[in-house]
Amino acid sequence: MVCIGEMPSNKSVSDEPITQFINCRILRHHKLQREDLWVRGGKILDPEKLFFDEEGFADYRIDCENRIIAPGFIDVQINGGYGIDFSQASDDYSLGIAMVAKKLLQHGVTSFCPTIVTSPPAIYQQVLPQIRVQNGGPDGAGILGVHLEGPFISKEKKGAHPPQFIRSFNIGAIADLLEIYGQLDNVTMVTLAPELPNSGPVIQELARRGIIVSLGHSVANLSQAEAAVLQGSTFITHLFNAMLPFHHRDPGIVGLLTSEKVPAQNRIFYGMIADGIHTHPAALRIAHRAHPKGLVLVTDAVPAMGLPAGCHSLGQQEIHIDGLHAYVAGVYILSLGEHESCHELILILMKTFDPGTTTLSGSIATMDMCVRHFRDASGCSEEAALEAASLHPAELLNLTHCKGTLDYGSDADFVVLDESFTVRETYIAGQQVWKK
Ligand code: ZN
Repeated sequence: MVCIGEMPSNKSVSDEPITQFINCRILRHHKLQREDLWVRGGKILDPEKLFFDEEGFADYRIDCENRIIAPGFIDVQINGGYGIDFSQASDDYSLGIAMVAKKLLQHGVTSFCPTIVTSPPAIYQQVLPQIRVQNGGPDGAGILGVHLEGPFISKEKKGAHPPQFIRSFNIGAIADLLEIYGQLDNVTMVTLAPELPNSGPVIQELARRGIIVSLGHSVANLSQAEAAVLQGSTFITHLFNAMLPFHHRDPGIVGLLTSEKVPAQNRIFYGMIADGIHTHPAALRIAHRAHPKGLVLVTDAVPAMGLPAGCHSLGQQEIHIDGLHAYVAGVYILSLGEHESCHELILILMKTFDPGTTTLSGSIATMDMCVRHFRDASGCSEEAALEAASLHPAELLNLTHCKGTLDYGSDADFVVLDESFTVRETYIAGQQVWKK
């Protein structure tokens, strides 16, 4: 993008400079429209109000060279990246989160939910206080709160969550969670298995507190899943992975996508790992065509995400990165049972070591890759692909008043993409925070 000079100074009531992005297609009201984008004070500005009420003009004009401007991407499930594992305590834990937050900017991610997998209470209580909910900026993507995936999950669908730390609900109250997590102040989402005894009151209380309850790592049948939705659950964690496979007589959690027992006002969202490896394109299309407005792209990224090609030491393992695949440099070929999420795969395979083989251990796709793959694999519109990474997660998190849209008054968090959906620039609060 090229700055094409300054305009006459504005007569705005605000002292903040006004920037006009021109020569672009912007995603607004579900359509890519040929419109300018106006920004002031970190927010999207209504140009009509500016002209008529304030008689204001742009201080700066930026030529977008015919590119797309879409709301910044929001990743609600990311376990780490660039060698950092959010579920691993360390002395410089918050520095690790900050480093990942900064690196995510190049992938168009302007905010995210660090995700912690099943861990012992000491880890939660050590790590959770170090994660601060905060706005993004030049130092990195914003943090919208923590996604706690486990430990209240099914042992049968544990994937690589360590079984010794998996819990059930004792009394079916928030005290069960506080005993393990220590606190819930910065928690945005909890993934749990609704078939666990006493889950109902826990789901209701979490929903009452505004914490998203997501169903996952579960053997729930459809009626158990429907009951959980009526109790307040609104999300499904990595649809198809770590749940009962779709069966025509009892479609399980997957059946929520077309359930008639879910009231119209209870919109169900579901996470999809659209990396071309963890969900077959046909399964992606089935989910999308059944329930397009609920699809939320997630990376479920593992610590190997973002590392350059070649060999790396990660924890106790040697990881070899090749294209979109992360291999553990030498592992036993395990019977994986069903196709688990990338996090599960890499953890399962990292547990055993057999020098001299190269076995697929997990996908390391970034959010921009998932958007491109989803568009190509589903044949959906450009708008639908972009909204699955921006509007839908913001709707899920009840944040559309400030995130996930380019509506007037929203935070000016956005991504500039070329025709191939390659991220060219990332903006947070109207400030350029990354440029290719
Ligand atoms: Zn998982």
